[in-house]
Amino acid sequence: MAGVYLSYPFCRQKCTFCNFASGVMPASLEDGYHRALFEEVSRFGWPWIPETVYWGGGTPGNLDPEVLTSVMRLIPGKPWVEATIEVAPGGVAREKLRAWRAAGINRISFGVQSFAARELRASGRRHTAATVAEEIALAREEGIANFNIDLIAGLAFQTPRSLAESLDWVERLEPPHVSVYMFEIDTDSRLGNEISSGGARYGANQVPPEDLTAELYLTAVKRLEAMGIARYEISNFARPGFESRHNLKYWRLEPYAGFGSDAHSFDGSLRRRNVETAAEYVAAWQDRATALLEETPAKRDEERLFLGLRQMAGIRLSQAEWTRWSAPLARYFNEGLLARDGEVLRLTDRGVLLSNEVFQEFLAE
Ligand code: SF4
Repeated sequence: MAGVYLSYPFCRQKCTFCNFASGVMPASLEDGYHRALFEEVSRFGWPWIPETVYWGGGTPGNLDPEVLTSVMRLIPGKPWVEATIEVAPGGVAREKLRAWRAAGINRISFGVQSFAARELRASGRRHTAATVAEEIALAREEGIANFNIDLIAGLAFQTPRSLAESLDWVERLEPPHVSVYMFEIDTDSRLGNEISSGGARYGANQVPPEDLTAELYLTAVKRLEAMGIARYEISNFARPGFESRHNLKYWRLEPYAGFGSDAHSFDGSLRRRNVETAAEYVAAWQDRATALLEETPAKRDEERLFLGLRQMAGIRLSQAEWTRWSAPLARYFNEGLLARDGEVLRLTDRGVLLSNEVFQEFLAE
């Protein structure tokens, strides 16, 4: 079954750790973006009826609910099995929740990242733990009980103790789904750039070293599992039955159509990518009525491995695949990064921490 991804790259602030093509942009650009997005979705031919919709960003929770509703009306399949909107805490209100629900939204992903005040301040986030708790209560009152909490392991000033504080909040709030990402130093984020250049802004000299970040992540895995929230993908954890139906499509090579800047699409054989920034997207749409940047044939065999293996359940290989990959597989079995259960191949706990290294092998083919 297929899914729809809608990108909304506008934010109220640029968080120091963020490496997405998102940020604070002029209101005039936002108006142009609304029009271009509406047009792009209007012109899509719908070869299938989607079962999931996902508004990602950026901060789509800040999008005018009327614009969101008008775009959602163009998408067939309502009520969708899962229709998610990403929000930044501090941007949820009762009227908005009602409008989202009427438009078909039935799941909220809260970009919390941390509940610890010092980590939030250093990240450029404006919310407090209390804001998150209030907004989750409000969402439940308004009938949206399916939600995700995003956390980051390895933020500036994070310690085992401050992470425990965040996980205590998670325990109290009883989310059906949690994501935990490990912070990676990347010069596309202000924090990553500062660390790379040896500076101290944004708490760059207070970012835990890589091995502590891995430990923090493993602490989160254990605590979440003790709460009944099991890891089903490297960064994703859910109570049984609450795994993200939309995100599973990416790892299972199911089709999806992406709209907006930097949106990706996969139709089962071709991968397409839109231009990266909001400004390029609006300009491309005005000039050519398409925002397509590139289209490449999918490498299904390799992708099945490096995307499928992200799932803790692993993937079932055919005899031909066991033979084709025998050399790298033997090496990773020896190194304890991959394990075989019958015909199923999966990452080990250690393999999860070194997954990029493992995937590189299959990407390079
Ligand atoms: S982390 Fe989220 S809210 Fe912060 S700049 Fe990135 S996309 Fe925007």
